[in-house]
Amino acid sequence: MLIGPSPTLEMEIYIDKLFCNGCANCIHQCTMGVFKMDGNQALVDNEYICVGCFKCQSFCPTNAIQPRIVMRVS
Ligand code: SF4
Ligand code: SF4
Repeated sequence: MLIGPSPTLEMEIYIDKLFCNGCANCIHQCTMGVFKMDGNQALVDNEYICVGCFKCQSFCPTNAIQPRIVMRVS
């Protein structure tokens, strides 16, 4: 039996540093602990454990977070 490439769906989280105001809403809303604060700036810490709920995007007051679903083939 031939085994071909296997596609998987993963999350990518992008934070636009120019728009982040350091409110920490994303940290409080993300139950998975994807984010961490670095001073007055939110950073993506554990992207691979994101479950794709999109709450971080919904609660970010400046629309600085862009989660997206990507397909990877390995
Ligand atoms: S919710 Fe948005 S503005 Fe607030 S810390 Fe997170 S990325 Fe920055
Ligand atoms: S989509 Fe959900 S799990 Fe993923 S980083 Fe945002 S709040 Fe966390």
